[in-house]
Amino acid sequence: MTKMGIRDIIDELAAEGSITRRQVARLLKEYGAKDREYLARKAREVREKWYGKDVYIRGLIEFTSYCRNDCYYCGLRRSNEKAERYRLSGRDILGCCREGYALGFRTFVLQGGEDPFFDRDALSRLISSIKRNHPDCAVTLSFGEHPKEAYKEWFDAGADRYLLRHETANETHYRFLHPEWQKLQDRKKCLWNLKEIGYQVGSGFMVGSPGQNINCLIDDLEFLEGLQPEMVGIGPFIPHRDTPFAGENHGSSELTLVLLSIIRLMFPRVLLPATTALATISEDGRERGLLAGANVVMPNLSPASVRGKYRLYDNKICTGEEAAEAVASLKKRLARAGFGVVVDRGDFKRN
Ligand code: SAH
Repeated sequence: MTKMGIRDIIDELAAEGSITRRQVARLLKEYGAKDREYLARKAREVREKWYGKDVYIRGLIEFTSYCRNDCYYCGLRRSNEKAERYRLSGRDILGCCREGYALGFRTFVLQGGEDPFFDRDALSRLISSIKRNHPDCAVTLSFGEHPKEAYKEWFDAGADRYLLRHETANETHYRFLHPEWQKLQDRKKCLWNLKEIGYQVGSGFMVGSPGQNINCLIDDLEFLEGLQPEMVGIGPFIPHRDTPFAGENHGSSELTLVLLSIIRLMFPRVLLPATTALATISEDGRERGLLAGANVVMPNLSPASVRGKYRLYDNKICTGEEAAEAVASLKKRLARAGFGVVVDRGDFKRN
């Protein structure tokens, strides 16, 4: 039997939605510029079949920068004494939503460090208020690991979706990125709990985080295949100067784009953002992400006064621009690349 070419592997992935570990390894090791373009074209075709040229926007509200965890890569880690901490009031958050609604957002993403100040009740009340003010909007939480009962309460209060990247599905690599007491098993368990409760669930990982190799990436894809998430968030790792990984290199935007395309082909209907991290290391990262198969962007709706303090990594895009200006220029840019921002909750298409 003659050895399969990279094109054949891409064709098989596009036709079947899955390939073997060995084929993924070959694809990731051996692709060339032409293969990359071919892969992206296949991913675009699948994206267009389900979502056309539509881009869903999510209003990101970074509601607290306090965190009890200590992930070595993250600028919000508790050991970072230089981090400026803040938390938004309920009023602030509802204000962000009101402004976002007027701009056409129909999903609000509450993202934060694991800040114990926002306990079950506090967050439930907040979710209920947002849903009361905007019954036609989806609420997404991105607030880390919590007991199943807490997830359930927030779901019952009206939360629709939950983003919790698994970060890396490889045990040894997970240990390298986190302190001993943070466990991969716990993180995975949270994801399964969220699924069971009925959330639309998002997972994902960083590309090019310290210690990552191709085997880790294959583990990541395999984990996602088992989980069958409705959303997948991936972006390049970017170092933060006040973390143990300060001196590391950032992940590659090219590899991120290749992985976006692979994920689109594995999960044809998945909600897949072109992330801020990608746009941070590459000026036209958002457009390139969409052209590689992404269909979501998550502009920042946090008040301009706190945006600079939510520093996951260095040089995170944070213009002084008001949300309205930012959305207007985003729309223009995406239109130039052939895409249209829609006013829509942008739920996962079940069938
Ligand atoms: N506390 C929440 C939200 C974390 S911030 C949680 O645990 O899910 C959202 C994501 O930013 C993280 O899941 C991580 O993948 C990413 N991130 C953190 N530090 C980063 C860095 N230095 N470079 C790139 N992405 C980073």
